[in-house]
Amino acid sequence: ATRVRQGLSRTRDNLGKQLSGLLGGGKIDEALYEELETILLTADTGVNATTWLLDELRRQVKRDGLTDAAQLKGALQQALINLLAPLAQPLDTDTNKPFIIMLTGVNGAGKTTSIGKLAHHFQSQGKTVLLAAGDTFRAAAREQLMAWGERNNVAVIAQETGGQQKGDPAAVIFDAVSAAKARGIDIVLADTAGRLSTQLHLMEEIKKVKRVIAKAEPDAPHEVLLVLDANTGQNAVNQVQAFDDALGLTGLIITKLDGTAKGGVIAAIARQRRQKQPLPIRFIGVGEGMDDLRPFDAREFVEALFD
Ligand code: GDP
Repeated sequence: ATRVRQGLSRTRDNLGKQLSGLLGGGKIDEALYEELETILLTADTGVNATTWLLDELRRQVKRDGLTDAAQLKGALQQALINLLAPLAQPLDTDTNKPFIIMLTGVNGAGKTTSIGKLAHHFQSQGKTVLLAAGDTFRAAAREQLMAWGERNNVAVIAQETGGQQKGDPAAVIFDAVSAAKARGIDIVLADTAGRLSTQLHLMEEIKKVKRVIAKAEPDAPHEVLLVLDANTGQNAVNQVQAFDDALGLTGLIITKLDGTAKGGVIAAIARQRRQKQPLPIRFIGVGEGMDDLRPFDAREFVEALFD
């Protein structure tokens, strides 16, 4: 909980201070709601989630006969927890062996770093992990994974370098799944390419990767994660949509929450898929350290935002 608190300190300093100022006391009136709306919107909470939260507050005010703005703080926290709770579904990797996790996301979102942190997370639970360097277009991504794997004694399956032909990510990942089955590995973390410039081509390529995984292991991938940079703001919502349409996402990792004062973006994402099943936030990135990828807990998150 302390790591999450520390990681969210920028949002807390911004959003939390403003909310504390506004909700210190006084009358509950239209001006107050308007100011609250502005504060939430500037923290990237998005129109949809902000409207939902304000409606929820008005309902609570009416129902409980609240009259003092100071009473709104607890009510707002509870409304936020209610909004985010459906997203807090921890990832259960015990349903399959190997449990195959495919990771997607645009370059720079923190995919490779998150793979390292995830491997560390699962290893510390006593599980064996294998990494598949499926981002064959970016040599640096491959090198980064190889180096990380060596340091931490985790096997990495990658394409041989030096050949003339362009890398085939699907082949690398097929080999990785086969190797994991042969070696009795618990969890496969499959990296994929994330070039945004040629998005159409990219989507076709990662769809192919998904199909090839299913060929190597029926019902796999068991988890398709999108890694999202919290600093992407409202554009995050569009990214979720695009990757979800192409792949059928099963969860999200939201990185770099420590680098933003706008942690409200999580609420925007929460509201986006309200008609369908909500998309779970499996992990949040709250720093660059190995332990700074934390399972998402709605109450812990909201209490770290402001109290
Ligand atoms: P990729 O292109 O998606 O594979 O992105 P990388 O994993 O290479 O990450 C890009 C940069 O973001 C690196 O400098 C990482 O250290 C940094 N990064 C990733 N996750 C986090 C996080 O949760 N917090 C912070 N502060 N930095 C992060």
